[in-house]
Amino acid sequence: MRVLISGAGIAGPVAAAALGRAGIDAVVHEAHPSPAEHLGSFLTLAPNGLSVLRTLDLLDPVLDAALARSTAIEFRNGRGRGLGRLSDGSHDLAPGLQSVSVMRGALQARLAEAATAPGTEIVYGKRLTGCRATGSGVVAEFADGTTAEGDVLLGADGLHSPVRTAVDPAAPRPAYTGLLNIGGVAEGAAVAPTPPETTRMVYGRRAFFGYQTDDTGRVFWFVNAPHPEVGRREAEALGPGHWRPLVTGLFRDDLPEITAILDASPDEHFLPFGVYDIATLPHWCDGPIGLIGDAAHAVSSSSGQGASMALEDAVTVARCLRDIPDPARALATYESMRRERVEKVVAEGRKRGNSKLATGAVQAFFRDAFMSVVIPMIAKKKGHSWIFDHRIDFDAPVAPAAA
Ligand SMILES: Cc1cc2nc3c(=O)[nH]c(=O)nc-3n(C[C@H](O)[C@H](O)[C@H](O)COP(=O)(O)OP(=O)(O)OC[C@H]3O[C@@H](n4cnc5c(N)ncnc54)[C@H](O)[C@@H]3O)c2cc1C
Repeated sequence: MRVLISGAGIAGPVAAAALGRAGIDAVVHEAHPSPAEHLGSFLTLAPNGLSVLRTLDLLDPVLDAALARSTAIEFRNGRGRGLGRLSDGSHDLAPGLQSVSVMRGALQARLAEAATAPGTEIVYGKRLTGCRATGSGVVAEFADGTTAEGDVLLGADGLHSPVRTAVDPAAPRPAYTGLLNIGGVAEGAAVAPTPPETTRMVYGRRAFFGYQTDDTGRVFWFVNAPHPEVGRREAEALGPGHWRPLVTGLFRDDLPEITAILDASPDEHFLPFGVYDIATLPHWCDGPIGLIGDAAHAVSSSSGQGASMALEDAVTVARCLRDIPDPARALATYESMRRERVEKVVAEGRKRGNSKLATGAVQAFFRDAFMSVVIPMIAKKKGHSWIFDHRIDFDAPVAPAAA
């Protein structure tokens, strides 16, 4: 069997690696001309996603590129009052499974390196423009006029997936959550270190701020700001001259360390991404063409799970293609194994994002009062363990789902 994969972000290379382990040939076609070493800001990999990497022997290269471990989140309001602390429970797990932050570009580059083995290939500069099932397989068409043939096509081509449109031309568009995400790294900011392995998250008066310091004095930070939707091109055209004062101004009445961190960050980090999700996608596959990662289920960055969900998908679809000879049944089985969990995570991300939309003193007052009750309650009940404790046994055989 030969599997074509569109997209060498996170899901694509890991699906290729998992297929390779199952003895299935996989070719990843990526639109970018080369591995994206400097792409975007950092993201968090949670224990459930890290355990997928461990299963596929990809954990060490990723941990080599990791920035900082964070097994707990401490919440405060803009004046510094504590609202509660949540642990991901990973301090008791085997070494390497504690949540880490990693630059998105470095993660993609490490996964791409680690995912090239005999039978697995990543080809850059191949932008997919169309695809179709032929009756005996699939054909992918690329912007350079070339085509590729295989038995299965996996769309791992992210939030604005062209393969999604091929699977279902009526698929819902990603929904804007009302938040912009801006993130960066500050060097030399005069702020006290965060507690060990802890990210501090601040519900500010006008926007949300998260940060963590490391041993070298760097500070990794992100902002979630309520804002009307802005396209990527428009955001770039406005440039840091627009975004830097806007972001800094949002925190003028909050903890002074936030301003210190923003002031110590270079201009290039002040470029926002809209935060999107897709609550439910009616069709994840059509015959031998299927979707994995953000292409199937964009998850708000507020969940901290987009990358980990992409990893879980990748290993699950490989198991299905390994054990179920008919590609269409294999992909339908993959969808049935993933849909419920993924949609629950998407809903959780939207809920967390909504808590960041409050603006103004009155809304902020009620939000803080609510959060100071809810966060300790979640902590007591280990309310997020269903997300972090999920494990996938790559070797366990998969039976086809009922038609
Ligand atoms: C600002 C921000 C912060 C985030 N923070 C977190 C976090 O803390 N934790 C977390 O888990 N997740 C986070 N995420 C989400 C996470 O980055 C995504 O969920 C994850 O990257 C999804 O992986 P993927 O492989 O499905 O898609 P992507 O990583 O988006 O990869 C898609 C790939 O497909 C390629 N492509 C697109 N179109 C084509 C085409 N036509 N032909 C060929 N290739 C194509 C793209 O170039 C890209 O390489 C964040 C996202 C953003 C934007």
